[in-house]
Amino acid sequence: MASMIYAIKCPCCGRSAIKDDYYKTDEYYIYCLRCGYNHTKLIVSETAQSVEYKEEKYDGNGIFILVNKDGSRKSMLLNKVTEEHLEEHKALFEDDTVDQGKSYLVSFKDGVFSILGGNPPENFHLSFEDYKEKMFAKYGESECDFMVPIEE
Ligand SMILES: [Zn+2]
Repeated sequence: MASMIYAIKCPCCGRSAIKDDYYKTDEYYIYCLRCGYNHTKLIVSETAQSVEYKEEKYDGNGIFILVNKDGSRKSMLLNKVTEEHLEEHKALFEDDTVDQGKSYLVSFKDGVFSILGGNPPENFHLSFEDYKEKMFAKYGESECDFMVPIEE
């Protein structure tokens, strides 16, 4: 099914989130690789008369990007994260197989980002407005101006 993927302003942290938009059915996935927020809206049942959607929404508690030395990569959106979870993630981060230069662990609590390990990319720190301006400067303004390109 056709979808459009573009960046939007994260309703949780105000930085750039990603929307995977199945515009024909009004279904979507929104996820934020800055704060971990995610929101899905999917069709659960459909008749000729009506469509029933199911929505799930989780506030972001942070993000854990784990890149291994073999190049494989895992992105974890942290929701309802506890101190213990963070300690476990931190321990994973120290592992020998992990590429510390490319991995990062960031917590997000009460509107505050704390970098617990690694170095998030420059775009990570930008507000959505600054990010959008940067993307349009780099890739050119798109024909439909809501289609903001995605870059880590
Ligand atoms: Zn966010």
